[in-house]
Amino acid sequence: AKKSDKLNSIQMYDETLHPAIEQRASLENELAFALQANQLLLYYQVQVNADQQPIGAEVLLRWQHPTLGMIPPDQFIPIAEETGDIVPIGHWVLAQACQQLKHWADSAHTAGLKLSVNVSAKQFSQPDFVRQVTEIVLASGCDARHLCLELTESLIVKNIDEVIGKIKALKALGITFSLDDFGIGQSSLSVLRRLPLDELKIDRSFIKDIAHNNYDSFIVQTIINMGKNLSHSVIAEGVELQQQMTMLQQMGCQRFQGYLFSKPVPLAEFEACLQAILTQPEALARLQTGLY
Ligand code: C2E
Ligand code: MG
Ligand code: MG
Ligand code: MG
Repeated sequence: AKKSDKLNSIQMYDETLHPAIEQRASLENELAFALQANQLLLYYQVQVNADQQPIGAEVLLRWQHPTLGMIPPDQFIPIAEETGDIVPIGHWVLAQACQQLKHWADSAHTAGLKLSVNVSAKQFSQPDFVRQVTEIVLASGCDARHLCLELTESLIVKNIDEVIGKIKALKALGITFSLDDFGIGQSSLSVLRRLPLDELKIDRSFIKDIAHNNYDSFIVQTIINMGKNLSHSVIAEGVELQQQMTMLQQMGCQRFQGYLFSKPVPLAEFEACLQAILTQPEALARLQTGLY
């Protein structure tokens, strides 16, 4: 429908809403088979330290749909959460990440890199979540200390003692925990203080205008101070500009992720880039300008 069809706005509404509902229903059906049809794949987005050296990556799911093309996770993970498909999908992501860590441990320029894996609330709340993760980690032979699970505050409002119990059980294996999208959720500071986390991940909505919005920069400084007081590392996501990186560094932030360093890329590109950084330090600058 065209913008100029103002007189037909009601008809336009009917034409556009109906296919949207149909598409949602067909996506739901197709998602059930996406995993076994090998349509899911993982992208890797580098995380760097204050020296802009790679310390690891976040693993981000993509759906290569046969006719619709690449579907971003925001469009299918909520559906997978509702249908329960997120449970087998989440296990697959974790298994892939652990295999990758095991693989990386064998080569000098990748040994020691960490992978952060997003865990949905539905997945974490499965009664056998701890056993499942333990089995995946042990089967892969990876060093559990290199695996970081990203949780969101949405999962914490539920049964806090059960959440703490599960985190502690997995921390005993060496797995670390990050609280993703931090700052936009509802959790109280008293609950937050009880969680045995390793990292707070500042939501990218606070980073966006950090250089121009005093309220946002105040929140970011507060989160960084909170992390220090609770002995958690703090990572900023959505860092796009050098100016943001500089401000975050001045505020005491230790880890960074965002388009300034790299967009999420397929594994081969990620590895090629790491190789280049090892042999020529200026390679990161080229990564930033999109040559990889
Ligand atoms: P998230 O975990 O907060 O991941 C960060 C998102 O921010 C990613 O979007 C990433 O591409 C994007 N991003 C990173 N740096 C920048 C930047 O500088 N600027 C901007 N504008 N965006 C940036 P993506 O890959 O579309 O993932 C969206 C969300 O989908 C993730 O948010 C996460 O909640 C979810 N997700 C992705 N993979 C998985 C998965 O395997 N399991 C689960 N449960 N959720 C996943
Ligand atoms: Mg995340
Ligand atoms: Mg996030
Ligand atoms: Mg997010």
